[in-house]
Amino acid sequence: MNRFANQNVIVTGAAAGLGQTIAESFAREGADIAILDFQSADATRQKVEALGRRCTTFHCDVRDERAVAEAVKGAAAFFGGRVDVLVNNAGFNGHYNLVKDMPLDKWRETLDINLTGTMLVTREVLPLMLAVKKGAIVTTASNVARRGLPLRVDYVCSKWALLGLTQTLALENAAHGIRVNAVCPGPVEGDRIEDVMQHHAEREGRSVADVRREWESAAPMDRFVTAQEVTNAMLFLCSSESSAMTGQALNVTGGFLMT
Ligand code: NAD
Repeated sequence: MNRFANQNVIVTGAAAGLGQTIAESFAREGADIAILDFQSADATRQKVEALGRRCTTFHCDVRDERAVAEAVKGAAAFFGGRVDVLVNNAGFNGHYNLVKDMPLDKWRETLDINLTGTMLVTREVLPLMLAVKKGAIVTTASNVARRGLPLRVDYVCSKWALLGLTQTLALENAAHGIRVNAVCPGPVEGDRIEDVMQHHAEREGRSVADVRREWESAAPMDRFVTAQEVTNAMLFLCSSESSAMTGQALNVTGGFLMT
């Protein structure tokens, strides 16, 4: 399929993990890519270029208002002014504390990256989409945007809030030709979930294998999801195939979430 032929796509957090698959998948369908990440995204850029598409990267912490504004301006210049799609994917695992022990600085760190960072990038990109009355925005939320999880209150609340941001943006921009949706992935196979399970195992005094078994079996499909499966939902939400959908959150959880 070539659903994004000659479209211009900004992806945040595409130096590693899910974001890398997102950038490559949009490129495979014909898009040029601009990446905002605070780590080097050169490896992703090379993969996109190997697919025959243009790619640029901006070293940018999404919490930094000025850096975000400069990076989005740079991306717009790279694209000749038009941004068709924004994928808000940059995210931080958060910390591992019961609410009764939650340090305020750690709480703020997670909210700053996952929520404020997403708002800042979106705020800068929106005027470019409003100018042409066209655009699609998708945000990586989480299964914990629908259901709490012990020890993860900062992460959980940041992801719930992203659904509020998504719905508000959808309402504010529907009349201007801009659709805004989210994806709620279950645990995604990869380095990050291994790290998360390790933390839970340590804090709960059990083995990583035990945590994995519990989380996998919570989904009727009895497995984690893949980065490609999550990306496929995003491609759909940003393509004309979902032209009547806005303000939605699609669960990609192997059936763990059903509403
Ligand atoms: P990852 O840690 O591999 O990738 C996160 C990316 O975001 C990295 O490239 C990192 O450099 C970037 N990033 C982090 N903080 C940033 C900041 N302040 N400014 C700019 N870039 C920053 O993790 P991942 O699993 O690929 O996660 C991607 C998204 O998917 C996140 O929003 C995460 O919360 C969400 N998610 C992941 C899972 C999972 O199981 N891995 C499940 C549900 C949701």
